[in-house]
Amino acid sequence: MSRSNSRTTTTRTVVLRRKPWKETSFLLELFSPDLGRITAIAQGARSEKNAGGSEPLAEYEMSLYHSNGPWFLRSSHLVRSLRKDYRRDTVMYAACELYEQTVLPPEDARSHWDLLLAFFDYLQHEKRHPIAIFWRFALHVCHLLGIDLDIERCVACGQTDNEWAAFFPMRNGLVCNNCQPSLAEPALLPLSESTSRLLHALPHIGNVLDEIEIPDETIQQVNRILLAHLSSHFNKPFHFKSLQLYG
Ligand SMILES: [Zn+2]
Repeated sequence: MSRSNSRTTTTRTVVLRRKPWKETSFLLELFSPDLGRITAIAQGARSEKNAGGSEPLAEYEMSLYHSNGPWFLRSSHLVRSLRKDYRRDTVMYAACELYEQTVLPPEDARSHWDLLLAFFDYLQHEKRHPIAIFWRFALHVCHLLGIDLDIERCVACGQTDNEWAAFFPMRNGLVCNNCQPSLAEPALLPLSESTSRLLHALPHIGNVLDEIEIPDETIQQVNRILLAHLSSHFNKPFHFKSLQLYG
C-alpha cells in the first residue's frame, strides 16, 4: 500500500504572529485546535492588494496544505475579527506571545484552543481591566501545562490570608508579611500592598472588576511574577513585548 505524505486540511486558526517572508509572502505562526502550533507560509499574500486572510487578532477557517515540509496556506475564510480597542488588543497580543513561547503539547491543543477562545470571548465585554483577565488566563494556561503558580498559599508557612510581601522566584510562590523578615533571601521580588490585594482577589477577579483599581506598579509587579515563573519553568527568558505598551 502506498502512502502519500501530502495532505490538505481545513481547520480553525488564530494567527499568533505574522512576518514578511521572501519577496511577497508571509510566514505565519498559527494555533489550531486540530494541529496545535504550526508554521505556515502564505505565498504571495503580500503582493495582493488586500493582505487579509492572515491577520493577527482574528479567527479564521483555513485550508492548509503540506507535503514533507512546511505548511502552506491555500485559502482562508474570516470567521470573526477579535479586535476591540487598544488595551484589549494589547492583552490579546500578549496571549498570542504566551502561546508562541510556550511548549504546548499537541495532544492538549484542543484544551489550549478552548482556553484561548474563552479568553478572547470574555474580553469582548470586559473593558475596564483587560490586564486582570489576561493574568487569570495565564494562570489557567500554567495549570493546564502542569506548572501551577500558587498565588493562594505562602511558600514558607502555608498561610492563605496574610498580606503578601514578596514573590520568591526560586520556589515559584508568594511569601507573606510574617515570613519575609526571617528569609535572608536576596532574590525576592517585593510586592506592594495593592499587588497583595490584587493577588488575593485574582482567583475570583470576575466578580470584583467593577470595584477595583489596578495601579501601574501592580501591573508591573504581577507581569514580573508571571515572567519569572514562566522563565524558570521553561529555562529561557520569556517576554511580553505587547504588555510594555499597555497603559
Ligand atoms: Zn508565611
